[in-house]
Amino acid sequence: MPTDYYKVLGIERSASAAEIKKAYRKLARKFHPDVNPDDAEAEQKFKEIQEAYAVLSDTDKRKQYDTYGRVDGIPDMGFDPFRQASSSWRDAGGVQVEFGDSARGQGGFQDLGDIFGELFGRGRTSKTRRQPRRGADQEVEVEIAFGDAVRGTSVTIPIQRQVACSSCNGSGTADGRSCPSCHGAGVLISTERLRVKIPEGVADGQRVRVAGKGAEGGAGGKAGNLFVKARVSQDGFFERDGDNIRTTVPVTFSEAYRGGEIEVGTVHGPVRAKVPPGTNSGRTFRLRGKGVRNTKTRAYGDHLYTVQIVVPKVISPAGEEAARGVADLYQANPRKDLPTGI
Ligand SMILES: [Zn+2]
Repeated sequence: MPTDYYKVLGIERSASAAEIKKAYRKLARKFHPDVNPDDAEAEQKFKEIQEAYAVLSDTDKRKQYDTYGRVDGIPDMGFDPFRQASSSWRDAGGVQVEFGDSARGQGGFQDLGDIFGELFGRGRTSKTRRQPRRGADQEVEVEIAFGDAVRGTSVTIPIQRQVACSSCNGSGTADGRSCPSCHGAGVLISTERLRVKIPEGVADGQRVRVAGKGAEGGAGGKAGNLFVKARVSQDGFFERDGDNIRTTVPVTFSEAYRGGEIEVGTVHGPVRAKVPPGTNSGRTFRLRGKGVRNTKTRAYGDHLYTVQIVVPKVISPAGEEAARGVADLYQANPRKDLPTGI
């Protein structure tokens, strides 16, 4: 299906050049990837907007499009600034590394580059002299085991970055020929093993910033930042609730009835804890400061343990006898105050 470029820009077929430009600027601002990071839909939309504008802003192409409903060479004209970025997920040793802006803006897209310069206040770029441009921020996700997240750990992230070829200073040519180091591309892929410290208490979804390890800047601009997003696994026993840890601890009837001291496992190791006499199943107690450290306030949360009275499994005449004795301990039917219907 050929795209209706007028519809993409939301304009009439009779729109003037100024109207086309105005519509384009408005939409480009709204859907620009810098404004919508990690939004594939917006990125797709942005590409369509660019394509539509590339055609309709060019008198010859617009005429061709109006006449034939398509323009030869679209979209193979090499003006897709995302071409390299769109193969953006590279598997780097089990870690998905997203390549963001590093590849954008390359590949003969000067005209639109000029417009973005205007739009986003980066100053006009020219074909001979480009303004320094800060590299995009990038994000990687790392799996972190529950215990490692609680204690803090460090991870090694292989990051592949597109860097300017040092042999030709990014020009792609050396001694008038195609540069042998980068085969004329002007860029090389460099792999770096980056050690990143994950702070004690990192929570699922939390991001750790590594300054200057994002995409390379353009024309001598500063590199963006790398964000390492923690994907913390769950634990079968310890349940995280913000900075608190929750567990369920089984107790015997005798411990619950008479009270006692039990050992409660916490992320800081075992802690002796009290069960007061007459404790009901489901009651929760707090061990202050035995939870997870907050990465910002550096304060520790609490450990909350809920006791659960377990019933012995083995039925024996002695058990029968004991159970009857226990039944006599209740002064009334424990359900006497419950409604019996609605
Ligand atoms: Zn080179």
